[in-house]
Amino acid sequence: MSSTITAVDHIGVAVERIDDVLPFYEKALGLNLEEIKESKVNKVRGAILSAGRTRIELIEPLGKEGPLSNFLRKKGQGIHHIAFVVSDLEMMLKRLKKDGIALIDEKPRIGIKGAKIAFLHPKATGNVLIELCEEQR
Ligand code: ZN
Repeated sequence: MSSTITAVDHIGVAVERIDDVLPFYEKALGLNLEEIKESKVNKVRGAILSAGRTRIELIEPLGKEGPLSNFLRKKGQGIHHIAFVVSDLEMMLKRLKKDGIALIDEKPRIGIKGAKIAFLHPKATGNVLIELCEEQR
């Protein structure tokens, strides 16, 4: 048994304020707003829009501390991460760790949508923040 990547789940876009950019994605592009959720643990507020089989996740920081605030200070608004769906997150993380891939999360955490997620370290990925999310069954 192994864990495989089955799709791109979403692309995360870092924004200063969701309300400022939401009209573009919702009205101009016509994407369907699924929900707006807050995750106090991850210190983000996220708007999830469906684009066919994949999604766009607009994320704004909650407060001035935390990784997303730091990202916005350093790089400004823009693409923040790519999220892949994996069939078995824990198994995938174990394998990546064994292969010497740098991980931000060695164990899954709970993401904004309530699913198990984990981030890989950009130094292992060509400087792209990659999120893995477990398939929702
Ligand atoms: Zn995400």
